[in-house]
Amino acid sequence: MAPKHLYLINPCNPLVSMAQPSRWRRYRVWKPLGLAVVAALTPRDWQVTILDENLGIPDYARLPRPDLVGITAFTSQAPRAYAIAGQFRRAGIPTLMGGIHASMCPQEALARVDAVVQGEAEAVWPGVLGDFQQGALGRVYKGEPLDLAGVPDARHDLLDRGYAFGSIQTTRGCPLNCHFCSVSAFNGHRYRYRPVGDVVREFGQIRERLVLVVDDNLIGTRPEHLARAKDLFRAMIAAGLNKKWICQTTINLGDDEELLSLAAAAGCVGAFIGFESVSPQGLAELGKRYNIVKGDDPRARVRRIHRHGILVVGSFIIGLDSDTPGVGRRIARAAQCYGVDLINPVFLTPLPGTRLWEKMRAQGRIVADHFPDDWRYYTLSFPVARCQNLSWQQMLGEMDDCWRSFYAPWRVLGRLCGNLSQGRGPLITLIANLSYGRNFQADRRRLRDLDTSRGPAWLEPGAPPSGRAHLPAQPWGGLVQGSALLQQSQ
Ligand code: SF4
Repeated sequence: MAPKHLYLINPCNPLVSMAQPSRWRRYRVWKPLGLAVVAALTPRDWQVTILDENLGIPDYARLPRPDLVGITAFTSQAPRAYAIAGQFRRAGIPTLMGGIHASMCPQEALARVDAVVQGEAEAVWPGVLGDFQQGALGRVYKGEPLDLAGVPDARHDLLDRGYAFGSIQTTRGCPLNCHFCSVSAFNGHRYRYRPVGDVVREFGQIRERLVLVVDDNLIGTRPEHLARAKDLFRAMIAAGLNKKWICQTTINLGDDEELLSLAAAAGCVGAFIGFESVSPQGLAELGKRYNIVKGDDPRARVRRIHRHGILVVGSFIIGLDSDTPGVGRRIARAAQCYGVDLINPVFLTPLPGTRLWEKMRAQGRIVADHFPDDWRYYTLSFPVARCQNLSWQQMLGEMDDCWRSFYAPWRVLGRLCGNLSQGRGPLITLIANLSYGRNFQADRRRLRDLDTSRGPAWLEPGAPPSGRAHLPAQPWGGLVQGSALLQQSQ
């Protein structure tokens, strides 16, 4: 009997497709690691193909007909995921969907696919395939968070060679529970670790020299979390992996010299840190009190991280209720003062499954609300909800000021000189600053398009939720429209 053929598809991400095709675009593309794990969970008598539209939309019509299609999606990818599912279902091919969006909006997904895998796939995937083979595919499979000792190494061998970064996961969940974040809703409240030996072995299977550790919080917050992170770094050093990697973490990375020196020796070259807001009111509003407790001297913490040759990318949010005019420049100034190498300012975005979503929905403040189409705007780079003290145009202006102020050419040059004198990845700083600059230009182009459609009056603070935003139909090139899309190539 011929093996069954499974397609695992990562749909076009608007954040990738809105950038002009260029050599820089690949730096926006993260490997679909979740699909590589699902591939590893799939019995070897299946043939598995991973298709990532962010590297170029495949000519599906010319590909062999699969028996089953699995699609993953972050929220902003959901419209495209449903379009893909519709195409395959019209051809009589069963389609299922997993990932964070389907997990948070299962009813919406079920109206457009044959089955939904909610939560983590490990506990249910073999059962899904077994049911399918018996002609009894269910509608909803709920994957509870399991111990990570059973997670297989991702099938890196099935991923395309066109990525700029490798990726790996070492923990799931986060001990904190910020209002705007869906990590706890998706991965549960318990912070779980993969066995150190498994992580080291999988690291060795990654082709790329530069790796993104996708954990939402690599080091955790409690002493036992930090002890585990140190164990991991020691094992990576002992294995001589010869990889450089970047991670996401909290500001407490800058508190522990031993942790920092082990991380650096294990290959850490950059840390993405969520500062979120420069005011205690903003942090309280976001439920990130941890940063209030730890935030007495961010500059000293950043300096300590820098001393170990690790770059710091600071994430900040614009559009909080406590934000007032001038917040964009205040963020840029604070980030300069902290000494971070790059910033990533985003709009406050109520993602489904978060407490922020519940609050804003109850208050009628979500304005991009024609679902599922409007999910494409939930990229964090578009204001989809009303802010209390800033109009829609003001929010765009604050974002603009923040970017322009932090990425002004003389400031980029200043940071570069600082990094050169301290021997801290000047080349990476230059490339990253230029790459962020290009991202900004792509965002500007898109926002100019939006500007021509004018922020509607009801997006102003205090206006009633009387209708939908006047959003351009295809702000990112129309990749998600029409039936021809499945033949389209980038
Ligand atoms: S610290 Fe980061 S990962 Fe953890 S809950 Fe807050 S935003 Fe989410």
